[in-house]
Amino acid sequence: MAVRPVLIYPDPRLKAPSSKVGEIDTDINQFIDDLIDTMYDAPGCVGLAAPQLGMPKRIILVDISRNPKCDQSLGLQVLINPEIVRQEGQSTAREGCLSLPHLTANVARATSISVRALLRQGEKIIFDAFDFHARVLLHEIDHLDGILFLDRVASLKTDVFRRKRYQVSNKATDN
Ligand code: ZN
Repeated sequence: MAVRPVLIYPDPRLKAPSSKVGEIDTDINQFIDDLIDTMYDAPGCVGLAAPQLGMPKRIILVDISRNPKCDQSLGLQVLINPEIVRQEGQSTAREGCLSLPHLTANVARATSISVRALLRQGEKIIFDAFDFHARVLLHEIDHLDGILFLDRVASLKTDVFRRKRYQVSNKATDN
């Protein structure tokens, strides 16, 4: 287990689509352990996707309870081959990303989604997520398709903000 360096935009690997995980073997499990260590090493980080560590595989982590705004305690979710099977509603909120450490932006996302995925043990699940949780999941799943939050802003002029250093922010969701 180890903390690994996070790729920083404009690394081209962040823009490449990731492939589905086949067998959840020892290599994949070791990688997931590193992904977990790396996410928890970053203060306030609520999600991380495999391609952010240069691994083009469809694996994400989410732990929204790390955000001070969050009153849910869902703990860590490790999701393999996650797919959005339903999305409804829309709200705009500030997001950040470990791969774009100097920027935050206002991003419109669905407020109610259903996600299908595999758990680490290979179990198939489908679940609903709302609001902040849905936003983090959508942000992470975007990473698997090579999409960054900058690709989702309505206006690069008025919806993107520079921050002096990467830090836990009450305004932005960091993932
Ligand atoms: Zn991100």
